[in-house]
Amino acid sequence: MRPTRMRTHGCGELRVQHAGQSVRLCGWVHRRRDLGGLVFLDLRDRSGIVQVVASPEAPSAHAAAQGVRAEYVVRVHGTVALRPAHTVNPKLPTGEVEVRADRLEVLNPARTLPFEIASGEVVEEGVRLRYRYLDLRRPSMQHNLLLRHRLAQAARAFLSAEGFVEIETPHLIRATPEGARDFLVPSRLHPGKFYVLPQSPQLLKQILMVAGFDRYFQLARCFRDEDLRADRQPEFTQIDLEMSFVEQDDVLELSERLVAHMVREVLGQEVSLPFPRLTYREALTRYGTDKPDLRYGLEITDLTEILGHSGVRLFREVAESGGAVRALRVPDQAAMGRKFLDELVELVTTEGARGLVHLSLTHNGARGPIAKHLAPGELDALCAATGARTGDLVLLVADAPERAASALGKVRQELARRLDLIPAGAYRFCWVVEFPLLEYDPEEGRYVAKHHPFTAPVDEDLPHLESDPLRVRAKAHDLVLNGVEIAGGSIRIHQRELQERIFRLLDLTPERAHERFGFLLEAFQYGAPPHGGIAFGFDRFVMLLAGEKTIRDVIAFPKTASATDLMMGAPSEVDPEQLREVHIAIVREP
Ligand code: ASP
Repeated sequence: MRPTRMRTHGCGELRVQHAGQSVRLCGWVHRRRDLGGLVFLDLRDRSGIVQVVASPEAPSAHAAAQGVRAEYVVRVHGTVALRPAHTVNPKLPTGEVEVRADRLEVLNPARTLPFEIASGEVVEEGVRLRYRYLDLRRPSMQHNLLLRHRLAQAARAFLSAEGFVEIETPHLIRATPEGARDFLVPSRLHPGKFYVLPQSPQLLKQILMVAGFDRYFQLARCFRDEDLRADRQPEFTQIDLEMSFVEQDDVLELSERLVAHMVREVLGQEVSLPFPRLTYREALTRYGTDKPDLRYGLEITDLTEILGHSGVRLFREVAESGGAVRALRVPDQAAMGRKFLDELVELVTTEGARGLVHLSLTHNGARGPIAKHLAPGELDALCAATGARTGDLVLLVADAPERAASALGKVRQELARRLDLIPAGAYRFCWVVEFPLLEYDPEEGRYVAKHHPFTAPVDEDLPHLESDPLRVRAKAHDLVLNGVEIAGGSIRIHQRELQERIFRLLDLTPERAHERFGFLLEAFQYGAPPHGGIAFGFDRFVMLLAGEKTIRDVIAFPKTASATDLMMGAPSEVDPEQLREVHIAIVREP
């Protein structure tokens, strides 16, 4: 830590080579032990903890040390000394030294805290968020936010060196729905009109390409008024970037090097490049999800060809009606217990699949409800296709292909957890590409964009755009880390005609499209370069690298699951005068 007029060193910096130096330290009293004669204080600042000793030989320091309590803010004047050998603390980086206090000033006392900082006790999250400034004092939270800072710096340095320009885009923008609900900001100067907070800088970064900046990035705050899920926040941060005159491989290659740089700088680990690429179809077929976790095997195999004509009626019926028979080989689990199997069946049924059939390959042959209905040739083919051997368990689902896939995908994840197949500290990245451009939304009765409406279709699929829209693939890419989507992007449409064709498919009339995205369509008429980009969910990425389970633990001031800020008490009511100024009247639902 930099010396200031108040202090000479950071508490955590003192080492053997400082012995004999006189120092001034500032910080919080982490712990106090009064041994009658000597008073020991653990003094803490961001750099760490050091032991301070106050002895009766320095009476004023001793008396002051007797009076301090946990989390008092103090300044210590003293001399660094080597600790006697038997009191060296190998757990502390400063454990070989201590500071003998000559003087101790209380800069600020502290009330008794709602929870202890020093004990590392588990504190209920509501209390942590209510007293976030105390929670953030805890070493684990300090670690997380420093890691976040270093990742952000690494991203900035890398992208700047690659010729990207950091450009801020506004937070008060026009409503241009991109899927989620917007946060509205009423305009005082324009009664009845609203700004919205951006869901992402998507359109503005595309416009920056039209403006000729070639490469843009931003650590962008995004706002989405959605119902929150485990790792969602109403506001979150993206590393957002966009590049001109690129093909998809350029974006992927750049992103891979960015990620590798960040991991290297922050964790000192090498990730191997290039990342494996899976098409959306492959990901669903082999892993049952478009966010495959590649830290473990357990691949899904399609057995429709092999079992679709077998003696098992269910398999025949499903295969004849266009469904699929899919299987998961679970090594060495032939003896899996009834209870475990039942739980897996339940998991599959909650996923909407009809059921889960098991087949145990025991030393006495195949066992399980379908065993006797399989012809020997079929059993051999099943084993050859899945790689199953004696001692293994095979789990099968027969259903509509997507449902069979996603059900087994859930089983795969559950098995990995319960059978402890996930190696600690592993980072496995993969790309998922060739997403469908569109999905059909039965509730809205129309097609919707799978990524967003500005994503370019794969060229060779263009002829099917109107005739068979669901078959059209997109030049879109998601980056997945350990089963979590950490980035998504695409090559964009840069021609007005194609953009308008897509809007028509999405059931956006030219008037509506113009009303919402007129500025983009207009910009595209003045020489838009081919361009594409990606945005990384920064909070999630930090969470995974910090080894945390929730993004709340890597955000300084997060909201709760119900979108409230417990420390500030937001959202709150506002003064009626403030409402009048922005021309808003509150209508209470009866
Ligand atoms: N704007 C997109 C998103 O927020 C990312 C992108 O396509 O670059 O998901």
